[in-house]
Amino acid sequence: MLAPGSTIGILGGGQLGRMLAMAAVQLGYRVAGYAPPGENVALEVSGWFWEADWADRGALAEFAQACDVVTWEFENVPLAMIAALPASLLACPARALEVAQDRLAEKRFAEDLGGRAAPHTRVESDEDFARALDRIGTPGILKTAREGYDGKGQWRIGSSQDALGVRLPGQPCIYEGMVAFEAEFSVILVRAATGEVRFWDSTANRHEGGMLAQSTLPAGALIEAQVPEARALAAKVAQALGYVGVLTLEFFATRNGPVFNEMAPRVHNSGHWTIEGAATSQFENHIRAIAGLPLGGTATRFARIEMRNIVGEEALESHKILAEPGEPHLHLYGKREARKGRKMGHVTRVGQALP
Ligand code: AMP
Repeated sequence: MLAPGSTIGILGGGQLGRMLAMAAVQLGYRVAGYAPPGENVALEVSGWFWEADWADRGALAEFAQACDVVTWEFENVPLAMIAALPASLLACPARALEVAQDRLAEKRFAEDLGGRAAPHTRVESDEDFARALDRIGTPGILKTAREGYDGKGQWRIGSSQDALGVRLPGQPCIYEGMVAFEAEFSVILVRAATGEVRFWDSTANRHEGGMLAQSTLPAGALIEAQVPEARALAAKVAQALGYVGVLTLEFFATRNGPVFNEMAPRVHNSGHWTIEGAATSQFENHIRAIAGLPLGGTATRFARIEMRNIVGEEALESHKILAEPGEPHLHLYGKREARKGRKMGHVTRVGQALP
């Protein structure tokens, strides 16, 4: 068990790191952050913060020196950077990052464990793209294999006519058939180093333009019926990776069962509701797992829960939400620039406490 007063290092400086840091501090730990220069909103809640390029070995050595254990809030931390850290500092094997950084690798990983993904194929050239369209057809989505998030690096291809206007982005891509889903959900679990696994309830997730807009509980009968199969896959993935901490798998609920979309080896936007809505939040349980502390309960505490993201300029007026009925819980991430499409905060509403 990591002793109180020890220092937890967090790679990445966004809102997930900010909320992880807050949970770590509550448990008596200190936090050191590391991220490239930018608007690192974890900085103001961290004891130390290195704003340096991922390749800056000097800064990395200082950071490593300050930490007793290291985790990440961002799955695209370069593997070379992770490899330069003493392996004994890593709470979780880097293999989880390696798999999750590549959309093809993560689909293959899930399929090898018995999961089902949308039909897909690698696209690196115009010829590959033509073959992919031939084989998989339209509608579909072309995505960069690496580094896309929140709908960025994605092109929806409604028809072969649409495909004619697409210029490949000059990096490996994946073309996926469009899944005719009824709903979307995620499985969020926490795994301890002992192998103990706990799941939070799965919310129904609504996306707008490829970005999560809202998560709600109860998730509805269709999703609830598919959660056991999705959880079984998530548990296998976690075990195969020797995972420690919070892991998220996203699924499409279709008429034929759950279809795996992608995984995030970290806390997840669709788990923000757990701060007020569950016995222990995803952030606290992640910290507990990597610190070797007993895991907390994951039971849902309310009959109805809704988490909604606050995006772009909406944040400028968002304090007004506090005057609304139903005790809304407002979280603002402290980002100075309310750019269009940028996640600025979230609001969670809980209702009808469970007995
Ligand atoms: P992703 O970045 O892969 O999580 O995609 C973001 C969102 O785009 C998903 O949550 C879906 O709403 C939508 N989407 C992505 N891939 C597909 C697909 N193959 N079929 C249908 N919708 C998709």
